[in-house]
Amino acid sequence: MKTDALFADKTVFSLEVFPPKRTDPSDSILTTVERLKELSPDFISVTYGAGGSENSDVTFSIVSEIKNTYGVESVMHLPCIGLKKEDVLNCLAKLRAAGIENILALRGDIPAGGAPAGDFRYAADLVEFIRAHGDFNIVAACYPEGHVESPSITEDIRNLKRKVDAGVNQLVTQLFFDNEYFYRFIERCRIAGIEVPVEAGIMPVVNKKQIERIVSLCGATLPRKFTAMMARYEDNPEALRDAGIAYAVDQIVDLVTNGVQGIHLYTMNRPYVAERIYSSIKTIL
Ligand code: FAD
Repeated sequence: MKTDALFADKTVFSLEVFPPKRTDPSDSILTTVERLKELSPDFISVTYGAGGSENSDVTFSIVSEIKNTYGVESVMHLPCIGLKKEDVLNCLAKLRAAGIENILALRGDIPAGGAPAGDFRYAADLVEFIRAHGDFNIVAACYPEGHVESPSITEDIRNLKRKVDAGVNQLVTQLFFDNEYFYRFIERCRIAGIEVPVEAGIMPVVNKKQIERIVSLCGATLPRKFTAMMARYEDNPEALRDAGIAYAVDQIVDLVTNGVQGIHLYTMNRPYVAERIYSSIKTIL
């Protein structure tokens, strides 16, 4: 099933997992998926570390298991940096054979040494290529506070419009901790003529290391309410976890109340955290 059809009559609830560090997807990710399935997700997406074809095989096998063993709709992330057209065509053929219809088309982060040689410069180039080579539902990333490389949010939205026009069916946002950025972003998108459904990406922050990494990677603004929480509980892991869960729930309740089209939960492969959040929001979705 193409996941864009889901937005017609509900607030979509989706989950994201990543392949375990080992080369073998092994049982642990499948145990995670087995637990996440109980949260009735509309789909589960699986990340793919840009720049390596063996990563793509691991991601593909998990995406395929989710769909064909667990019966949950799945979305494969596909960062195009360093990929050749032939790599993408092979990937599309595998997805088609496994009955997977949804791809999150990405560029990937540029490594410190510069972009490796490949046939795609921006995610929009990949979107256009996929659109020309099959009947896939194409999801893409967007950034409520602007992408880190972008000189301004206006410029970033102009590029997002190009990407959507190349054939995107739905969007998922980067994580954010202040819903006001999301609301302003949606308004700007609609003014720019971007009409596809947008899911809000929510990351429950449950430990201190995680937040330091996130902020250095994506530069999300941390509201005072959030930093105060982190400061108060940083030496009490259980309290920090519970406060992080409560913060995510609070964000989601506000988003749903204000008519968000979907919630995409970055689970960080922590089913316990996802379960706690789901049990607090399931009746409002
Ligand atoms: P693009 O849409 O190509 O944008 C990248 C930058 O280029 C932006 O600043 C944009 O404004 C600019 N730009 C775009 N088009 C043009 C143009 N024509 N001219 C000039 N500038 C332009 N990374 C992974 O490696 N694996 C994953 O699985 C993964 N999953 C993700 C899931 C989500 C929901 C999100 C939000 C991000 C994910 N990422 C993942 C991270 C993503 O790869 C990075 O954020 C990356 O830096 C940008 O990817 P993009 O697809 O948004 O790029």
